[in-house]
Amino acid sequence: MSVAQKFDGLINEVEDKLGERIVALRRDIHREPELGYDTKKTAEKVVAALDGLPLEIQTGVAENGVVATLRGGGDGPTVGLRADMDALPIHEETGLDFASETDGKMHACGHDGHTSMLVGAAHALCGMRDRLNGTVKFFFQPAEEGGGGGKVMVEEGALEGVDSIFALHLWPGLPFGVASTKGGSVMAAADAFEMEVRGTGGHGAMPHLASDAVVMSAHIVAALQTLVSREVNPVEPAVVTVGEIGAGTAFNIIPETARIGGTVRTVSDEVRNLIPYRMEELAKGVANGMRGDATLDYKFSYPVTKNDPEAASFALDVASGLFGEENAVEAKAPSMAAEDFAYMLEEVPGAYVWLGVGDVSGLHTPQFAFDEEILPRGAALLTAMAVESLS
Ligand SMILES: [Zn+2]
Ligand SMILES: [Zn+2]
Repeated sequence: MSVAQKFDGLINEVEDKLGERIVALRRDIHREPELGYDTKKTAEKVVAALDGLPLEIQTGVAENGVVATLRGGGDGPTVGLRADMDALPIHEETGLDFASETDGKMHACGHDGHTSMLVGAAHALCGMRDRLNGTVKFFFQPAEEGGGGGKVMVEEGALEGVDSIFALHLWPGLPFGVASTKGGSVMAAADAFEMEVRGTGGHGAMPHLASDAVVMSAHIVAALQTLVSREVNPVEPAVVTVGEIGAGTAFNIIPETARIGGTVRTVSDEVRNLIPYRMEELAKGVANGMRGDATLDYKFSYPVTKNDPEAASFALDVASGLFGEENAVEAKAPSMAAEDFAYMLEEVPGAYVWLGVGDVSGLHTPQFAFDEEILPRGAALLTAMAVESLS
């Protein structure tokens, strides 16, 4: 039987039986956003929404994460499905009835949707338990937005025994209802740097008696632009962004130090390792040439999110069967944003899949909102990927 035949009617079934529940949970989570590891109430809502299902539930994973296990009829492999639960420090401006009730916190990355879709999938999969030839593990993780909750889950051994794993992210800019992914690098590594540029302070009127950290910094920022344009193979994507620069206390003082901070995005280990090495040489070279010095503090953060090529084409096949061929599209290039699901994919082969919500305000913006019709569709996709992984 083809995937399309096997899951014929699944979307309607999920919509009819679970649609209201999924949307209600999403709105409940949306109203009360929580940041980082502090997802206690969200985790409680998840546990309450799974109540009565034949699941083994483990709470307190990576502080406030939840892992639920469904043992099917057969003793086949174990497939993992993951959602993130945390919100962002953004003040919501959507005007929705169920907008955030906490000033300065908002679900602006769709994680409320991811969590409710995964709860929906848990309900759907529990309903077909006897047909499942293996185990499904549902991972609800905190702290995706910078805290590395996925990494902590891996370190705590939550993924032990999992044979493959999948996750969805709602994706503005991709047509509504289209699933897209690719084998290999799908999201970038996100690293951070801070640089201290040191000269000699002095009077603004007597620059020859000082070495000016402001002028050095200006030249360093310009020189950093050559890292991507002159050092990295032009067919390889890479980003170096200076997001912070600061120096000085008064208009007539040449400051002794200046500070430069930024982010670097890369999609291969080779380029990821090249940039800090060349960044330091370049900054020191420029500063030394101007009678100063620069020191670099470089922090490696989320690694490249690498899909297993087979798992990625499997996910597209399932999406094609479920949504129609035209709604399952192989992505041409990775996104330069990052994702801590990367740590889970380092541990277990799997795929990270974007689910289009059309032309809405971007992720991490105060206006981000999406059509909730996508939620049962996403829940159906997670369900179908789990069933197929076990068959
Ligand atoms: Zn985000
Ligand atoms: Zn996100």
